[in-house]
Amino acid sequence: MNLRNCSRCGKMFNHIGGPAICDQCKKDIEEDFQRVKQYIQDNPRATLRQIADDNKVSSKMIQQWIREERLMFSEHSPIQLQCENCGESILTGRFCAKCKASMANTLSNSFAKTKTGMQEHFKKDDRAGMRFLDT
Ligand SMILES: [Zn+2]
Ligand SMILES: [Zn+2]
Repeated sequence: MNLRNCSRCGKMFNHIGGPAICDQCKKDIEEDFQRVKQYIQDNPRATLRQIADDNKVSSKMIQQWIREERLMFSEHSPIQLQCENCGESILTGRFCAKCKASMANTLSNSFAKTKTGMQEHFKKDDRAGMRFLDT
């Protein structure tokens, strides 16, 4: 047993892993999420504040769902999200599709670079070895 206080309601519960939130609160949050999701579909022009007030959820919670790409806003929404990298307006998540793609590229590029870098290193070692043999 690993008892912890739920970070949402403060109740003691058996913590198995992940965020310190009890089962009841997890269920409540999931219900909140479904309600907010439905609300956004019904009220595509609602502001973040309106959504939070009308659904009795914190705007922080809503922002977390946005970052997790669980909530998607329409283009008519007053909620303007911006790519954290280039500032492009986006509908959900943290980055625009372009930045996401280039980030994936940068990752594989830097991997390729270290690979060739290592090969060059080996080549240099070979030459050094040759020179050593010559003298
Ligand atoms: Zn709780
Ligand atoms: Zn971007």
